[in-house]
Order: sequence, then C-alpha cells, then structure tokens
Amino acid sequence: MRQEEALLIIEPDDYRIWLKEIVTGLRHYLEEEMELGWAGWENSPAIKLGQEISAVSNLDSIRQELGDCQRCRLHASRTRIVFGTGNPHAELVFIGEAPGREEDLQGEPFVGQAGQLLTRIIEAIGLSRQEVYITNVIKCRPPENRNPAPEEIAACEPFLIKQLAAIRPRLICALGTFAAQTLLKTEAKISALRGRFHVYQGIPLMPTYHPAFLLRNPQKKRDVWEDMKKLKKEYEKLRAASAAQNAQ
Ligand code: URA
Repeated sequence: MRQEEALLIIEPDDYRIWLKEIVTGLRHYLEEEMELGWAGWENSPAIKLGQEISAVSNLDSIRQELGDCQRCRLHASRTRIVFGTGNPHAELVFIGEAPGREEDLQGEPFVGQAGQLLTRIIEAIGLSRQEVYITNVIKCRPPENRNPAPEEIAACEPFLIKQLAAIRPRLICALGTFAAQTLLKTEAKISALRGRFHVYQGIPLMPTYHPAFLLRNPQKKRDVWEDMKKLKKEYEKLRAASAAQNAQ
C-alpha cells in the first residue's frame, strides 16, 4: 500500500466520531435556521433551481431513452415520434390521446385542427402554449387515426409517467377518454369523469372532452368551458399560494 493510500484509511472509531460531529453540527445549524424562520428545503431557492435544471435534463434524457422507439408496431407506420412540447417546468400539463396526421408530419402535438381548438382553449383561460406542457398518451400516430390498442398504450405509458415525474406539474388536464382512463386507471366514461377534479399521483387532474370530439359535437363546448373555469380557478389558487410562499 502506498503511503498516501494508508493516510486515507479511517479507523471505524474515528469514523463514528467524525459522523457524530457532522450530524450534531447539522442539527444545530437547522435549529438555528428554523428559529430564524426557515420554511423547509422545498422552499429554498437553491433546491428550486436544482429542480428546474433537472426537469429540463430529465425530459431530454427521457427523450433519449425513447430513442428511435420500436417498442410497439406503430413505429412501422409513423413519420415522426411526437414527444411533447412546451414549458419543461409547466405547472399545468395537457395530455391528449395520440398524434394525428399533422402531428405525425411535424413531430409536434396538437398542431392540426383539433390542436388549433386546444390552443384557443388554453388562451381562453389566460395562458399560452409556451407556458404549459402538451403531450399525448402515445407518441406515434395510429394508422388512420384509429384508437390506440391496449398493448400500444402499455408500451408508451412508462414514458408519459416519466415525463410527468420530471415536470412535476401542479395540475393536469386529461383530454378525452384515453388520457383520462389511462391516468386514472378506470374504465369509466369521459362523460362521467369530466367536470370535477380527480387525483393522479397527488396532482389534481381535470378530465374533459377531447378537442377533436368538440369539433364533431360543438354543443359540448359549454361543458368544456365549465371544466376550464374550474381548472383556471385552481391554477390561480395554486399560483397565489406559491407567490405568497416566495414572498416570505
Ligand atoms: N389528438 C391528440 O390526441 N393529440 C394530438 O397531438 C393531436 C390530436
């Protein structure tokens, strides 16, 4: 053993004393900070910055992990994978079903006719596409826009779960049957689910009708507007609460 290596060896007793000193020091430090009004790690600017940086890099690494995905048969007919778009730190995430023709060509979710309606819905609650995050349950277009098959959802869902874990939104809006049923693990109809908040992994989730359904059934826009008013109210409540916390 070289002399430098021998110097680095810590005897078990020394190690225990050293560890005890660190823990005692840390406890005193935290007690002092709490007396001065410290509100917890989650409110520390350094932790928040760390979370923001990691949301970006996590989304990048999730996209990398997805790669040139061939986990289900949809890879054979797709043009592009449609991963998601918007703010990686979004407080509100919209989740649709699957890319359509335009999305498949452009590689971006909700850019076709239904997407234009979604953009107007988002703007109607005072937000922009850039402020929120938009994605789908499945990332490749089913041929002829057929419904996604259970095995296609099963292959893609882990990536949606990881996206949500990386973004950590405060609110989710599930657009249509597939998003609502997949996230809430239910077979209930969207007409029975919409209109009230459910909970996904501790996050309030509002199911509503899919914009493509609204294009075919414009009389249902009133219901969606009712859902969006509730979503907006909750969003503003959460924002006010974080603004108050940040001002402390
Ligand atoms: N419909 C969806 O569910 N997602 C899209 O991206 C476009 C249309």
